[in-house]
Amino acid sequence: MTYDYDLIIVGAGAGGGTLAYALAATGKRILLIERGDYLPREKENWDPDEIFTRRRYQTQEEWLDAHSQPFNPEAYYVVGGNTKCYGAALQRMRAEDFGELRHYDGVSPAWPFAYDTLEPYYTRAESLYKIHGQRGEDPIEPPMSVEYPFPAMAHEPRIQEIADRFQAKGLNPLHLTLALNRNQAAPEHSPCIRCDTCDPYPCMVNAKCDAQVACVDPALIYKNVTLLTNTLVTRLLTSPDGRRVDRVEIKTDLGSETLSAETVVVSCGAINSAALLLRSRNDQHPNGLANASDQVGRNIQKHNHSALMAISPEPNDTVFQKTLGIHDYYFGGPDQDYPLGQIQLTGKAKWQRLKKMTPTDLPQAMLEYLAHHSVDWWVTTEDLPDPNNRVTLTAQGQIQVAYKSNNLKPHAELISLLEQHLRDMDFYLFWHKRMDLTVFWHQIGTCRFGEDPSQSVLDVNCRTHDVENLYVVDASFFPSMGAMNPTLTIAANALRVGDHLKSRG
Ligand SMILES: Cc1cc2nc3c(=O)[nH]c(=O)nc-3n(C[C@H](O)[C@H](O)[C@H](O)COP(=O)(O)OP(=O)(O)OC[C@H]3O[C@@H](n4cnc5c(N)ncnc54)[C@H](O)[C@@H]3O)c2cc1C
Ligand code: SF4
Repeated sequence: MTYDYDLIIVGAGAGGGTLAYALAATGKRILLIERGDYLPREKENWDPDEIFTRRRYQTQEEWLDAHSQPFNPEAYYVVGGNTKCYGAALQRMRAEDFGELRHYDGVSPAWPFAYDTLEPYYTRAESLYKIHGQRGEDPIEPPMSVEYPFPAMAHEPRIQEIADRFQAKGLNPLHLTLALNRNQAAPEHSPCIRCDTCDPYPCMVNAKCDAQVACVDPALIYKNVTLLTNTLVTRLLTSPDGRRVDRVEIKTDLGSETLSAETVVVSCGAINSAALLLRSRNDQHPNGLANASDQVGRNIQKHNHSALMAISPEPNDTVFQKTLGIHDYYFGGPDQDYPLGQIQLTGKAKWQRLKKMTPTDLPQAMLEYLAHHSVDWWVTTEDLPDPNNRVTLTAQGQIQVAYKSNNLKPHAELISLLEQHLRDMDFYLFWHKRMDLTVFWHQIGTCRFGEDPSQSVLDVNCRTHDVENLYVVDASFFPSMGAMNPTLTIAANALRVGDHLKSRG
C-alpha cells in the first residue's frame, strides 16, 4: 500500500513538536498537523492587559465541567501548543516519582520503568530546550549523567536576599531550571533580554525555548517535514478490521479531506487527544479508538496549584523574577511523613494580575503599590489519579471534563509552611488563590501507558494496545507526574518514542 506520508503527527506542541524534530533527520516523510496558526509576533505579546484581561491568545472554545457548566480553558491552540505561553521551568521528575509513592490521600502509581530509562532522554531534552541550571544545590536532585547545558539564571538582588534568608533557616533554595536562550556572559549578544514579561506571556523575540522555537522550526528545515496549520483533525478512520488507522480526517476552511500514513501519532494535549480518540469511535471500536480497556479519558490529573502573593514593606524591583525554587518539602514536611510538593517563583506579578487575586475591589493605585512590594510564588502539589476524573464527549461532541480535586491537605500545609517562613522575613500580607478548572496547564494522564492492556491505553512504547500503527506522545501517557512541571518529561519521552520508531525502520 502506498501512503501519503510515512508519519502523521497530530498536534505541534511539546510532544508532537519534539517528536517531529527527533525524526526529521531520518528522511521519513513527516506531516505535522496543527489546528492553530503561528502565534503572531507583535507588541501585544508583552502587554499585561492583553494577557490577563483580554486573554488575547487563548482559545475561545468552551468545555463543560462535571455539572455541564461551561468554562473557557486557558489553552493555546497554536504552533508550539501550550508551551508558547509557558513559564519555561523545565524539571526532571525525581527518581522516586517513577516508583509507587504513598501520599496523604492515596497512592501515586509507579511507572512501567524506572528513572534510569528516561535519564539519557532528559539529558537530550535539556540540551534541545537549552536548560539553564546549577547542579548540586537541589536536595532531592535525581542522578544526572551531565551538567546542565547552561549556567543557572542568576537571582536579582531582592531574590538573592530571600534565597539567603531561606538558606540561613537551614533550607536549600535553588536556581530554577529554565528553558531560555540567554547568554549571561555577553548580554549584549543575548537573544533573551531577561524581561519582566516572560511567564505566562509569549516571547516576542523568540528567545523562550518553547516547542515551536526549539523543535518545530528546526524540524521544518528538513525538506521531508511538512507542517499544516489551521487544520483540525476531526477523526481517525480505521481499516475494516479495526487494527490500523487507515485515514486521518482533516478539516480546514476549504472543507474536509483525508490523508494516510504508515504510522499515526496523536499529540493534541491530554484532553484533546482523549477527545479525538473518543470522537473516532466506529463499529470495531464502539467506545472510542484504542479504548477496549475503557481507560481513554480517565485518570486526568492537573496538579494542585496555588499562586501566592506575599507583600512586604520592602519594594521588589526584580525584573525577571522566576529564578528561585524550594524542594525541601517535596517528600515531606516537619510534621508530615507524606509528600507536600514544590515551591517556585513566578513571573513578577503586575497590578493586572493582582486584581484577579485580591478579595476586594481595590483602586489601581493601591494595586500598583502592592504589586511593587509583592514577591510572587507558585505552589504545586501532586494530585492523584482517580478513574472518575475523566474526559468524555457530550452527544453533541463537546468536551466535558469531570474533575474533583484530591490531596488538598498537603497542598494547604505547603502554603502554610511557606507563609510561616515569609512572615519571619517581614512579609505581612498574603493572598493565595488555588487554580480552578480553567487552569488545566499541567493536564496529563488520559491515555496512560503500562504493561496491562486492561488497565492502560498505551504500551511502554506509547503505542496503543488496540491499534497497531497508532501512538500517543503528548502528556496523556503519564500514569502519575510527581509535583514537578511536566514538560521536560513530555519532551524526553517523545525523544524516547522517536528512538523506538527509528529502530522499527
Ligand atoms: C500559562 C502556562 C504556563 C505553563 N508553564 C509551564 C512550565 O513552566 N513548565 C512546564 O513544564 N510546563 C508548563 N506548562 C504546561 C506545558 O505547556 C504543557 O505541559 C505542555 O505544553 C503539554 O504538551 P502536550 O504536547 O501534551 O500539549 P500541547 O503542548 O498543548 O500541544 C498540543 C497541540 O495539539 C494541537 N491540537 C489539539 N487538538 C488538535 C486537533 N484535533 N487537530 C490538530 N491539532 C490539535 C493544539 O493546538 C496544540 O498545539 C504551562 C502551561 C501554560 C498554559
Ligand atoms: S525573559 Fe527572555 S525568553 Fe522570557 S520573554 Fe523575555 S526575552 Fe523572551
